[in-house]
Amino acid sequence: MGSITLQKVSKVFGEAKVIPSIDLDIKDGEFVVFVGPSGCGKSTLLRLIAGLEDVSGGKIVIDGRDATEKAPSERGLAMVFQSYALYPHMSVRNNIAFPLKMAGVDKAEIDRKVTDAARVLNLTDYLERKPRQLSGGQRQRVAIGRAIVRQPSAFLFDEPLSNLDAALRVNMRLEISELHQQLKTTMVYVTHDQVEAMTMADKIVVLNRGNIEQVGSPLELYSRPRNLFVAGFIGSPKMNFITGQHAAALNAHTIGVRPEHLTISTTEGLWKGEASVTEHLGSDTFIHVRTEVAGLLTVRVLGDTGIRAGETVYLTPDPARIHRFNEKGVAK
Ligand code: ADP
Ligand code: MG
Repeated sequence: MGSITLQKVSKVFGEAKVIPSIDLDIKDGEFVVFVGPSGCGKSTLLRLIAGLEDVSGGKIVIDGRDATEKAPSERGLAMVFQSYALYPHMSVRNNIAFPLKMAGVDKAEIDRKVTDAARVLNLTDYLERKPRQLSGGQRQRVAIGRAIVRQPSAFLFDEPLSNLDAALRVNMRLEISELHQQLKTTMVYVTHDQVEAMTMADKIVVLNRGNIEQVGSPLELYSRPRNLFVAGFIGSPKMNFITGQHAAALNAHTIGVRPEHLTISTTEGLWKGEASVTEHLGSDTFIHVRTEVAGLLTVRVLGDTGIRAGETVYLTPDPARIHRFNEKGVAK
């Protein structure tokens, strides 16, 4: 079991109200990602759940029991950090076994659990190595192994992939998703990277200044962002926003159109402009267009277009994919 419920949880550091008041339900087995800009309170919220920080107010319920006052070791959770502090002088086997040895588990049981964890994490052939003889990704797997052997009711990850290079991050992202499919244990995962959130989560919690802006599945957040913050945060390249008379003409204070929902033509369309920079990614091209009506807009097209910088172009939004926001920035 691994359900976690937050009821009016708040956290104050001195004068700073870092978490004003959060209510959240995490179901057993769910993969939940907390995402938001740096400093928005993601780590603080995770540390409150882990018990590494005391709440200033509210209640944390784990598996139906009030855990607000419980010590971290009594919560049945395991945390994996960005810096995977492994013991350099210990083998992989002993690094993974460490928490079990500390807990006084007998040797046969430790061996069995370490063998199981190593198999799940593809570390079987590396058990006798020292951390310095491993790649960054393997070291991160050892850190996860140390969490797995404790059989927690939930894993808490704080930006575990931030220290890895881009290619390795993509690999580890897949590995952690596979691990979740195998173990089916609740995972709460913190990242500032919306792509990580979109690709891994069952449920995304978008945080901004310690408040929840929206909770939903990746596709819900993409298709129906509740406000300008979520609309601008989820999706890459970012959604284009247009205000003023051209937004008013489409019945909104502000309208948002994703780059993939604009078509570009050299002969006709709704908004006239001049192609500025084009970015060629091979599979896609991003064309930045300086428009008379709405400033710089980004268009995403599949493959290549013949359009070059300086050309006159016309943009047209897909009417079914226009997001409308009122003067408070709330979706209509
Ligand atoms: P994130 O993980 O989203 O980047 P954090 O949860 O680390 O953000 O921090 C949220 C805010 O709380 C930041 O403004 C940070 O400076 C502040 N903060 C975090 N921990 C402490 C602390 N121990 N004392 C004072 N302020 C803190
Ligand atoms: Mg953090």
